[in-house]
Amino acid sequence: MKGERNLHTICEVFNEEASRQGLRGVLGVVAFDSAYDALLPVQKELLEGICGGRFTELLEGGSVISIAYAYPDHAIDSIAVKKGDAFNKERWNEYARWYINLNEALNETAEALAKETSGIAIPATVSWTADVKHVEDFYKMAVSHRVAAEQAGVGWRGKNELVINPIYGCAIRLASVLMGAPIERTHASYEGCGSCRSCLDACPFLGQKEKLDDYREQCRRYINALGLVAEVCGKCIKACANSPTFKEIRSKGKPSNIGSIHYTTE
Ligand code: SF4
Ligand code: SF4
Repeated sequence: MKGERNLHTICEVFNEEASRQGLRGVLGVVAFDSAYDALLPVQKELLEGICGGRFTELLEGGSVISIAYAYPDHAIDSIAVKKGDAFNKERWNEYARWYINLNEALNETAEALAKETSGIAIPATVSWTADVKHVEDFYKMAVSHRVAAEQAGVGWRGKNELVINPIYGCAIRLASVLMGAPIERTHASYEGCGSCRSCLDACPFLGQKEKLDDYREQCRRYINALGLVAEVCGKCIKACANSPTFKEIRSKGKPSNIGSIHYTTE
């Protein structure tokens, strides 16, 4: 029965998809009830709607497959590059276009995995649309993939609130697949951000997030004003990639604390 696929088979399908897309991928698995319990009430309601008649089955023994694709390094390098006194928006759009590309690739891969597991694909989160007037409106529109990714060990929650993978940093996009059967869970343990604060120093909103009502609203307004081809900014992602924490990680090669998380080969 397709729903009883094991982790190895799921990883093989993911490898094929990542290879077809020409992307570097990460996959982890967490129990559905654990990821569900950690969601905000509004997100729980949204997830229940996505599950429909399968909610009880999922809650009683289901799994969430968390998948990520990494941005190519050149896309991250293109963020917030100066041209004279202003930002080079043409170059910055390279990152914005990769945001769109990765979302599309994740959605195709999530559908392929859902087909394989008789599961439900939850597409990559896309930024708000014109009818979102405040970031709080957006919380009701898309299920966060970050909770499942964090619990599955894809990465830790960074000071910029993104999921930080030990190899690709936060230069990743996420999607999820819900499947009815319990499969082997993945685990990893990380030391987290430590004393690093590069992302906080790179963004005035993040840097003051404890003082602001909701720094995400300032982020949303900044992104809208930026006017790239997708609703993105990415300065906090670039800051993380160039942070002393990640320079040190990269200098040591592949980290030893990746646990049972699955990485596709390049
Ligand atoms: S995306 Fe830009 S504005 Fe938003 S938190 Fe990151 S650096 Fe700040
Ligand atoms: S820049 Fe540093 S503090 Fe911010 S998320 Fe990355 S590792 Fe953590």
